[in-house]
Amino acid sequence: MSSANSDKFGPPKRFQDTSESVWVEYVALALKHKPKVNLGQGFPDYAPPHYVTEALSEVSHGNHLLNQYTRGFGHPRLVQAIAKLYSHLIGREINPNTEVLVTVGAYQSLYSAITGHVDDGDEVIIIEPFYDCYYDQIKSAGGVVRSIALKPTKSGVLSAADWKLDPVEFEKLFNEKTKAIILNTPHNPLGKVFKLDELEMIADLCKKWNVLVISDEVYEHMVFEPAKHIRINTLPGMWERTITIGSAGKTFSVTGWKLGWSYGPANLLRNLQLVHQNAVYTCATPLQEATAMAFEFELTRLNSSESFFKSLAVELTDKRDYMAKFLTETGFQVTLPEAGYFMIADWSHNADKVDLSSESDEFKDYRFTKWMTKNISLQGIPPSAFYTKPNKHLGENYIRFCYIKNDETLHDAAKILKDWYSK
Ligand code: PMP
Ligand code: GLN
Repeated sequence: MSSANSDKFGPPKRFQDTSESVWVEYVALALKHKPKVNLGQGFPDYAPPHYVTEALSEVSHGNHLLNQYTRGFGHPRLVQAIAKLYSHLIGREINPNTEVLVTVGAYQSLYSAITGHVDDGDEVIIIEPFYDCYYDQIKSAGGVVRSIALKPTKSGVLSAADWKLDPVEFEKLFNEKTKAIILNTPHNPLGKVFKLDELEMIADLCKKWNVLVISDEVYEHMVFEPAKHIRINTLPGMWERTITIGSAGKTFSVTGWKLGWSYGPANLLRNLQLVHQNAVYTCATPLQEATAMAFEFELTRLNSSESFFKSLAVELTDKRDYMAKFLTETGFQVTLPEAGYFMIADWSHNADKVDLSSESDEFKDYRFTKWMTKNISLQGIPPSAFYTKPNKHLGENYIRFCYIKNDETLHDAAKILKDWYSK
């Protein structure tokens, strides 16, 4: 009899890339080297709003049935709250029972949307840099990835808005095999907020070729003036072909809760429910109840400056500006984000200050970021992780930093870079 570690137990062929994801690798890197300042994986290092954690605490002392299973496609109180919020935001009545699905983070919404809609040989368009899991989720569903890169349209001081799609190249990706496109606005890692004309171009091609849009909008409530987040599902003829994804982790600064949702027309949501009912069945009830309470509270003050969605964006604008300043002062060339909590910076002007020969990774940004963690105790993320293999060189001169951090943490990062730069 063959042993259990024979080839029979290797990863299935559809897992084309069996290397560790950047998150697995860089969380391990941080655990090993304990950098003084970790601006890598995206999460706040300060407390979520008090009423959010209070809600969870209240739930744990309340009705004991909230410790038991709840409705599979979403806890009734939460789907009601989600439907109410988005009905208001998109100006269309959303049915909480058939048009909302609660999932384990935005990850599982992406997984359910992709697995639920992509068949063998279906083509799915992604826009580079892209949130890394899209690629492997499409591949493991049997889909074919077609990609196009956003490129800076000028040099020097850049805004995320300067990173654009070439409309001619973009149109060439569409054909009768195109099943879906994954859009991410506001965008990770650029912080780009797609403008109306850009969304219209995408929408027109999706309507022309009968293509589904999976719209990852997890940073929807962190948009900085004067940028405006436009939901592609509000464009004419687009509700019918769009699944939109959100995340409680991002919305309420509780990434560890891993609670997300999809909303869209019932016929499209149905395929996600089919994946969900046998893979996960239902998400954690206490977290759903507490998230519902948080949404209900925000619904009472949506238009006031007290709204967490507004105050967080203001707070992040200051952090963004502070980071852009200290990065620029230390030789990095930043792309100023319009939203979200990540900033990419070109480090190539500092290349002569580092000896990367101690690092063996194929891509320069991996070598640079690992060098930084080990030698100056500051961690970032290598953006080539957000590109397909042939395009990874487009990310190699950059590093991604997360700025949803205490001011003290950001000061420490600035000090580390200033000390290094002045040597
Ligand atoms: N999409 C994007 C663009 C993200 O940055 C993330 C990370 N939050 C996710 C999806 C996954 O979100 P979650 O943690 O809710 O699974
Ligand atoms: N979305 C977060 C980021 O981009 C965290 C990702 C993760 O840990 N999988 O940093």
